[in-house]
Amino acid sequence: MLSLQELLFRYLRTVSLLSLRYIFFAGTLFLIFYVWKKRHFFKLKIQQKYPDNKHIFREIGYSFLSLTIFSLVGTTMFILRKNGYTQMYLNFSDHSVGYFVFSVVAFILMHDAYFYWTHRFMHWKPIYPYVHKIHHLSTNPTPWAAFAFHPLEAVIEVGIVPIMIFLMPLHPFALLAWVLYQTGMNVLGHLGFEVFPSGFTTGVISKFSNTSTHHNMHHKYVTSNYGLYFNIWDRMLGTNHPEYTEQFEMVKARAKELESEEKTSVMESFAKQ
Ligand SMILES: [Zn+2]
Ligand SMILES: [Zn+2]
Repeated sequence: MLSLQELLFRYLRTVSLLSLRYIFFAGTLFLIFYVWKKRHFFKLKIQQKYPDNKHIFREIGYSFLSLTIFSLVGTTMFILRKNGYTQMYLNFSDHSVGYFVFSVVAFILMHDAYFYWTHRFMHWKPIYPYVHKIHHLSTNPTPWAAFAFHPLEAVIEVGIVPIMIFLMPLHPFALLAWVLYQTGMNVLGHLGFEVFPSGFTTGVISKFSNTSTHHNMHHKYVTSNYGLYFNIWDRMLGTNHPEYTEQFEMVKARAKELESEEKTSVMESFAKQ
């Protein structure tokens, strides 16, 4: 039986680890794209403007609140695992390497489906103003918006973890691999800059991956582009924004144009000297 002190320690440790993960992923990209190389990357900015600081502080505040809720669920799962109620396994050799890889892929695909359907549910008119609207206060999101949820939405978002650890045997490293992939894609979705190359949304395989433009358009237009990692559910159910590819290519074309303008002006200034 774990003492209250041990549980509190476990909870605070989880809050710290999740906070570090958030600060590392969101903070690094924010520093590069919004501060250090701001001028250089502006050509890739999907919406050609920056949000006010008050919006950024709101995104950070709600994200930290979500992390405290995720940690509560994480600590509860830890207690349940300790008491043998979950299917988690600690001994790597209990299952094959092939199974380990399968479990990570299954987790990601299941989460993609879970996210799409819970996201659509939260967009349902009677529910939307009370829960998901908080996330949509960011109409031009920054990476800090990755976990900017109403506390109830934070509970829904983390719900995939108990489902998966009760459903199938998972090693903590499989959970870690999912956490890293999930955070990376989530932060990328809220980046506000398009980093994928032209043609990405029409490529035979690449079109099934979401992009920054995809989720940025979800924040701008609200009623389309619900998917998280993959562009499968949105394609199957016709919820992709009709101008998704057009807007993606528009950002890329504008960036190319600005780049060639920059080069011309540099060459002209050299010629004058
Ligand atoms: Zn939404
Ligand atoms: Zn979002």
